Amino acid sequence: ARTLVTGGSGFIATHVIDVLLKAGHSVVTTVRTPQKGQNIRDMHPGVPQSKLDFVIVEDIAQPDAFDQAVVSDPPFEYVFHTASPFHYKYKDAEKELLQPAIIGTTSILRAIKKSAPSVKRVVVTSSLAAVRSKEKNVGGHADWCSVTAEDVKRDPSTGYVASKTLAEQAAWQYMKDEKPSFTLSVINPTLVFGPVAPHSSLSSINTSNERVYTIMTGGAKSGCPPTGTNSLYVDVRDVAIAHLAAAEKSEAAGRRFLLVGGHFTNKQIVEIIAESFPTLKENLPTGEALEKGGEASLVGDYTFSNAQAREVLGIEFTSLKQSLVDTAKSLQALEQ
Ligand code: NDP
Repeated sequence: ARTLVTGGSGFIATHVIDVLLKAGHSVVTTVRTPQKGQNIRDMHPGVPQSKLDFVIVEDIAQPDAFDQAVVSDPPFEYVFHTASPFHYKYKDAEKELLQPAIIGTTSILRAIKKSAPSVKRVVVTSSLAAVRSKEKNVGGHADWCSVTAEDVKRDPSTGYVASKTLAEQAAWQYMKDEKPSFTLSVINPTLVFGPVAPHSSLSSINTSNERVYTIMTGGAKSGCPPTGTNSLYVDVRDVAIAHLAAAEKSEAAGRRFLLVGGHFTNKQIVEIIAESFPTLKENLPTGEALEKGGEASLVGDYTFSNAQAREVLGIEFTSLKQSLVDTAKSLQALEQ
């Protein structure tokens, strides 16, 4: 089928595109610059433009951002909306996070309804951040983070969590109000590890892999930081397969899929790297410097259900060790 992937330059989107091409689909992806589009084309040297192409969408925060991108010949059957800011380096949460996340989501749904009647299924990349609540320590597919836009005004650090929560809520609300002919599935991954694309830049590693690179390069040597609240991982290749399955499986319509491979601690990251990359040992903390890394706010406390992802999408989750070893290998390849 013909598919549209938004934000093709992103870490997760790179793998979604990979999985779509391998499954025989043709892909058009939105990127902000022609260079980013060319980078994606260069990753798939044998693939003709008819199978992999890009269109420019500079800013998803514009309400008409996707009006042109959703129109294609042959027409699209599946749309994957992955583009959304994921970083904590913002000054104005409203402008830099909330607007692109929320308007980006509603504008693509609106554009599809208006101009792309061939689309059968839209898959939106949300986050476990939209599911987890401070009050409950069990996460199921019916749970929602309780954050509001008002909370962001008081405490800008919740900006990213709010952007994902409000964007996903806006998507379901749109489906309820507008009753478009396409169906919606939502993917809610936790912190994603996994191999980065060969054109990635070491100076701006995607947010979720940052801690692995920091640890590899000596950033935790004198004292491994506690793991914090982000102590659940999933591998990016599982996330990509989940996107494809969520589009292709009829029973995935109208559902959210929590993608969690398991718990981890920063200490485990250190231990796995030490075991698999002996040359990096000198960069890693040991003994007392490692102990705090074993602490995690959620281990043994917060649990989650990934049953829908296993049973409906057929995901077999990649182990922490496999995920981290492949992440580290890809980061080493970038260094060379
Ligand atoms: P990346 O930062 O690698 O990718 C984000 C993508 O969104 C990039 O293509 C980026 O374009 C694009 N983008 C961001 N803001 C805009 C904008 N205003 N206009 C146009 N494009 C924009 O992050 P990930 O791949 O990790 O994230 C992809 C999706 O997955 C996001 O929706 C994120 O919230 C979600 N997610 C990620 C998790 C993770 O741990 N990685 C966990 C849970 C959810 P450009 O490259 O040009 O900046």
